[in-house]
Amino acid sequence: MVDDLYQETILDHSKRPRNCHPMPDANRKAEGYNPLCGDELKLFLKVENDIVQDVSFMGSGCAISTASASLMTESLKGKTREEALKLLERFHDLLTTDTPVTKELGKLVVFCGVRDYPARVKCATLAWHTLKSALNSVEIEEPVTTE
Ligand code: ZN
Repeated sequence: MVDDLYQETILDHSKRPRNCHPMPDANRKAEGYNPLCGDELKLFLKVENDIVQDVSFMGSGCAISTASASLMTESLKGKTREEALKLLERFHDLLTTDTPVTKELGKLVVFCGVRDYPARVKCATLAWHTLKSALNSVEIEEPVTTE
């Protein structure tokens, strides 16, 4: 029964992804690609004072990769860079090891079933790998104005 609920959440987020739009005033961006499945993803971040103020994505991919990106964007707002990277680690553990589910994962636990399908793990982690490279990227410089 719990599995059904998880399945439903993934389906819902893959059909109606949240925060799925470009962000013109993003100051961090990164692109991710999962050749095994063909998932593509562009991630936009607005990071101020080391806190993720806003996050959005655009992409085309399978249900798992889209739902994962959607749920990730919901989980990140208001987190510090360090907290975001820690959450990435927890999520990766959830998908690849038998570690008990921790509370900080929140809704992200719906992906625990992916553990049984190693080929889909890359789909579920694509958004997170892209997040890591966006957080580590150099800040996009403000356009120069003469004002
Ligand atoms: Zn995929």
